[in-house]
Amino acid sequence: MANQNYNPYDNAKTQFDRVAEMLDLDQATRDLLRQHRQEVHFTIPVKMDDGSTKIFKAFRMIHNDARGPGKGGLRFHPHETADTVRALSMWMTWKCAVVDIPLGGAKGGVICDPRTMSQGEQERLCRGFIRRLHSQVGYNIDVPAPDVMTNGQHMMWMLDEYESITGKRFPGMITGKPVGMGGSLGRTEATGYGVVYCLRECLKNMKIDITKTTASMQGFGNVGEYAARMYVDLGGKLIAISSWDATDKVSYTFRKMEGCNPAELADIKDTFGSIDKNKAQALGYEVLPGSDWLCQDVDILIPAALENQITPEVFPNISKKVKILCEAANGPTTPDCDQLIQDAGIMLIPDFLSNAGGVTCSYFEQVQGNMNYYWSKEEVLEKLESAMTKAFHNVYNLAQEKNLYMRDAAYVVAINRVANAAKIRGWV
Ligand code: NAD
Repeated sequence: MANQNYNPYDNAKTQFDRVAEMLDLDQATRDLLRQHRQEVHFTIPVKMDDGSTKIFKAFRMIHNDARGPGKGGLRFHPHETADTVRALSMWMTWKCAVVDIPLGGAKGGVICDPRTMSQGEQERLCRGFIRRLHSQVGYNIDVPAPDVMTNGQHMMWMLDEYESITGKRFPGMITGKPVGMGGSLGRTEATGYGVVYCLRECLKNMKIDITKTTASMQGFGNVGEYAARMYVDLGGKLIAISSWDATDKVSYTFRKMEGCNPAELADIKDTFGSIDKNKAQALGYEVLPGSDWLCQDVDILIPAALENQITPEVFPNISKKVKILCEAANGPTTPDCDQLIQDAGIMLIPDFLSNAGGVTCSYFEQVQGNMNYYWSKEEVLEKLESAMTKAFHNVYNLAQEKNLYMRDAAYVVAINRVANAAKIRGWV
């Protein structure tokens, strides 16, 4: 579960304020970028299989669209909150800007638990979401995508509902569609691979041989699995991975000192990224408490699950051996840890830079959809690698030049780009 003691929106604003101050941004630009351009809060009545009707609460927010239409995922989660969506949409603005794609920041969420809902109930929820929101989304307004506990099937139900209402085909209205239905090859891998492209470049700059490194990861969903696969493919040794167990309602860490095998763990996880503990044990994995992923004696920590996982309370549990904190999840570290990370001499690869591969590939999906011509997987991944490598070095070089903390450097790049777009439009 996400740490309830921290409000991610407060975190996002604290991070923004710090860099706004450094950049000496004028008041109007601060006021514009600190707030959301649009927030929609609504309810979706859904007929459940047992004949009852359940009312689900939903949100869709556009933080900023100065650089292009809103873009951002849609989460289905029982603990979703308006402030989480506010924070995530704000981070989307910075994420699109830091990789320099012409999109703004948006995000949505529905308070629900798809793990306890039938396919029919989920389909009615998705269609209800669009029936209520169709005038506020679209390829030139705001483009949703999958995120925590949503997938290509959910996106297709939403697209179909949208096209039924409008009477036209609009493949660019949503991304994360299945391949063959307007989806891009490489999207499944994009976020996790992008994380490791950044990590690889960072290790090169630090003159560390990736094949001599060890890592520990939290989360083995879409992002975690593909980050794990790429890291291990490049020769790294991943010794621990934690995931949430929906039956026991706790998380577990699965450890193998000789190195986890992401492919075999992928075979024993469910569609929500929960690793089966009995099967893992049978494959020789130690099953440890969920929080143990953080205190492993490794070179690299990769939080790839939820926000607010690394706090000052747990920071002392991090091994002195850790050299890199590579944030794959959104907002996994609370702002009061930033000074601790710097004092400990840990290199940070900030979330909205390292996990920008997903939205970059979503942008490629839109480009391919507009052309109605689809690239090979190799072509997509080549373009992704090039975009992520360029974005990483841009931030890293600025951090080195100006002696900035990596999170601040990423914010400087992103905020400057969005502030300039708002200025050129004449908004501020
Ligand atoms: P997912 O739903 O596919 O997987 C989440 C994983 O986290 C699962 O393995 C789950 O078991 C695990 N988990 C949940 N609670 C946990 C806990 N308390 N301890 C340990 N493990 C726990 O989600 P995802 O798409 O992989 O996204 C993960 C993170 O990355 C989120 O913060 C998301 O917003 C962010 N992100 C995702 C994408 C994307 O393309 N999917 C892009 C950018 C950022």
